[in-house]
Amino acid sequence: MTFKAEYIWIDGTEPTAKLRSKTKILTSGGATLDELPIWGFDGSSTNQAEGHASDRVLKPVFVCPDPIRGGDDILVLCEVLNTDMTPHSSNTRAALVETYEKYAAQEPIFGIEQEYTFFDGERPLGFPVGGFPAPQGGYYCGVGADEIFGRDIVEAHLENCLKAGLGISGINAEVMPGQWEFQVGPLAPLEVADQLWVARWLLYRTAEDFKVSATLDPKPVKGDWNGAGAHTNFSTKAMREGYDAIITACEALGEGSKPLDHVKNYGAGIDDRLTGLHETAPWDKYSYGVSDRGASVRIPWQVEQDRKGYIEDRRPNANVDPYTVTRLLVDTCCEALEK
Ligand code: ADP
Ligand code: MN
Ligand code: MN
Ligand code: MN
Ligand code: MN
Repeated sequence: MTFKAEYIWIDGTEPTAKLRSKTKILTSGGATLDELPIWGFDGSSTNQAEGHASDRVLKPVFVCPDPIRGGDDILVLCEVLNTDMTPHSSNTRAALVETYEKYAAQEPIFGIEQEYTFFDGERPLGFPVGGFPAPQGGYYCGVGADEIFGRDIVEAHLENCLKAGLGISGINAEVMPGQWEFQVGPLAPLEVADQLWVARWLLYRTAEDFKVSATLDPKPVKGDWNGAGAHTNFSTKAMREGYDAIITACEALGEGSKPLDHVKNYGAGIDDRLTGLHETAPWDKYSYGVSDRGASVRIPWQVEQDRKGYIEDRRPNANVDPYTVTRLLVDTCCEALEK
């Protein structure tokens, strides 16, 4: 039996990595993680190697059905290794594995809200040629052709994520025309991050067939238009069981150099988005609060009511690396909760 495996990996583009993929025809063997072969690629074309020693290794880490090709075909997310099988410097997943193993007993889980913007050539989808649409106000969770742009693509993407078996938990239209969100989780750190990368790949691939591009640019339109974020919802077992742990986590994120350590790894261009306007807190001032969409970290009102649950880190940009944001939150909060 022959089937197609789309090997997907994260490249070394600075300051924001890009997704790459290529197809391997497999004629024998199974399609589980253990059965899939490692593969290689030209790292000099992806900012992951010099031309004179260009080979890099693709090691499968997550596999799912390919909803685009269908049948027995699969998507294979890979991590990038050097030829001596050590993690390549662009491989941020390896560091998450290490941190997660240290704190797995605390059972950290995440739900990530991925915002993004469709573009039709140079314009956000729904922006008139040479001008601007009506100001923000009616687009968020809107309905109707005057407010909604790209729903056919969004529905196709959602369907593809579900067919792939990803843990996608919802979608909504966002504050700016052509801007949307999907949520992945709640899932364990490696699962949420692997699946978010695959969901991003499916977003680009689905939109491609509509001749539309999608971008994770955190501030796709300058001026009085919302940016695009990746609110990261987080809890541990202790946080899901009691309010003290919720407060411990919020306080830990504010200690010493932590606010800056986090923010500078929350996606390129974060100071353009975290201005203090458009439902953001300024990037250089840490705060947390109940129900507060102007705080760095929000405790949802229901969580305060129930005296348990999760927190929402509102700072990460849409272009954040999910391996990095989950690693930092686990590292900072679980270390504090262990005491
Ligand atoms: P918002 O009101 O901020 O737009 P969303 O509904 O878009 O919220 O996203 C909330 C996210 O929080 C979802 O992805 C959901 O899976 C996640 N979530 C819910 N409970 C928990 C929890 N206990 N720990 C971590 N994430 C959670
Ligand atoms: Mn070639
Ligand atoms: Mn949301
Ligand atoms: Mn949102
Ligand atoms: Mn949110």
